[in-house]
Amino acid sequence: MIRTGAQYLDGIRDGREVWIDGEKVRDVPSHPAFAPIVAVKARMYDMQHEARFQADLTYEEGGERHSVYYQPPRTQEDWHRKWRSVDALLQEIGGVVTRVGDETVGEMWSLQDGKDLLNEIDPRFGDNISNHIRRVVELDPFHVSANTDPKGDRSRHISDRDPDMMVHVVKETSAGIIIRGAKYETAAAYADQAYLKPTVGAWTDEKESDYALGCIVKMGAPGVKHICRNGFAGRGDPADYPLANRFDEVDTLVVFDNVLIPWEDVFFYRYTKAAQQVRATLHRYSAFPYVLRLLYNADMMIGAAMFNARQTGLEKLQAVQEKLADLVCYREGIRAHLVASIALAERSPAGLLMPNQSLLYAGRVLACSQLPVMMHAARELIGGQICVTPSAAAFNAEGSSEWLKKFYSLNQNWESEDRRKLLAFSRDLLNSDYAGHRLAFVQFAQAPHFNHLAAVYKSFDFSGPLDFVRRAADMSAKVMGQPR
Ligand SMILES: Cc1cc2nc3c(=O)[nH]c(=O)nc-3n(C[C@H](O)[C@H](O)[C@H](O)COP(=O)(O)OP(=O)(O)OC[C@H]3O[C@@H](n4cnc5c(N)ncnc54)[C@H](O)[C@@H]3O)c2cc1C
Repeated sequence: MIRTGAQYLDGIRDGREVWIDGEKVRDVPSHPAFAPIVAVKARMYDMQHEARFQADLTYEEGGERHSVYYQPPRTQEDWHRKWRSVDALLQEIGGVVTRVGDETVGEMWSLQDGKDLLNEIDPRFGDNISNHIRRVVELDPFHVSANTDPKGDRSRHISDRDPDMMVHVVKETSAGIIIRGAKYETAAAYADQAYLKPTVGAWTDEKESDYALGCIVKMGAPGVKHICRNGFAGRGDPADYPLANRFDEVDTLVVFDNVLIPWEDVFFYRYTKAAQQVRATLHRYSAFPYVLRLLYNADMMIGAAMFNARQTGLEKLQAVQEKLADLVCYREGIRAHLVASIALAERSPAGLLMPNQSLLYAGRVLACSQLPVMMHAARELIGGQICVTPSAAAFNAEGSSEWLKKFYSLNQNWESEDRRKLLAFSRDLLNSDYAGHRLAFVQFAQAPHFNHLAAVYKSFDFSGPLDFVRRAADMSAKVMGQPR
């Protein structure tokens, strides 16, 4: 089944407890901070029903249509179709959104790859993950990710901290487990469910295993409280902040105040080995859609910088062309990693097709770590006018408009209103509060940089370089036996 936008809106009107700026939100879909991004998600659902998008966004199985976003990948074509489905969405909405479901669902496929481990704890848990993977295909909920606890002072053992600093089980009942704690989650306040799992950390201490918990939490369940950061939408004139007003993906501190998780939604708990497995494999699929978003981010920087260079005639200068080429290399570097990760895809333990892990994780490091440098390159190419240009109101007000029209009109193709729009777009992409927030999102939302590097280290096959050096240096074969 594929849902409609209206069904999605009905689903999140479930009486959930949502707070923003000290205000209790009465209706999430119509609240100004949420309305634009909720509309994007609703549009995403409606697109699946439209004939022109159906081939890219849906597939048929057992006489039913399902979402390509949630289809477990088995072939290279499945991955190409996922790419096309993201392309169709971002082209349709005219911007970049990341946490809209497809980018988090793969975390459950990773867990299924460790199903044998779950079965070691209890065979029911292994079945639960398979059931949930099927359930998202069949019911098309909006699924997000809950990894990061507040954690507290990590120089102290967890037993010496407030136990709620990390989500934990407080009680087992016949209906399920009761959990307490909190997680940071983007989009939780307007999503249907989250896959909650242990945070990044050294999962080696058996004593912490009470905190080694993986489950599905319904975002409107009793005891779930969403305390959101303040929104960017509605803060300034959309004419001045066109991205912030349409694509702000509101992040939430989700508090779990004795929340009942029914047994069928539990994947594991009190099992440190499962936490280790989750952290080692979490992004093996979901890194792909995450990195893919950065390709579109790069396109926005290239488009803005190139338009500016054309408007002002700077495009003809070789030094400017070289700076534009730097942006293109970044963009093509991301594309090359994504294309190659599909071309050299690998079979997973559960029989799915994973993007080539070493290439995908190396591509994530390139895309995320170089973004600050590339944002600065684009900022520099567009020049100082993105910081000093007056607001749209000044362009329209009698007294200032004639002067602004005069100084912002460049030639017959570029009149002042289009130049103003380009500068406002560029400011919101590169310089605004929202731009800074998006940069932080990219650096942290799918784990921080050190964790991205750890994934590269674990997935790269060091035997090739080792053997090459062994032969080149004429060392004995014995050295290859050294443990890593
Ligand atoms: C905009 C945004 C959106 C987010 N959305 C989500 C979401 O949807 N779901 C979710 O679960 N989480 C989300 N997060 C949280 C994100 O996953 C965390 O911020 C991230 O895992 C880092 O955790 P932390 O913030 O507690 O930083 P810390 O753990 O306090 O780390 C801070 C810094 O300390 C250093 N550091 C810490 N530990 C180590 C180590 N072991 N080795 C080396 N260096 C280390 C690193 O430099 C690190 O960047 C989001 C974060 C942001 C900023």
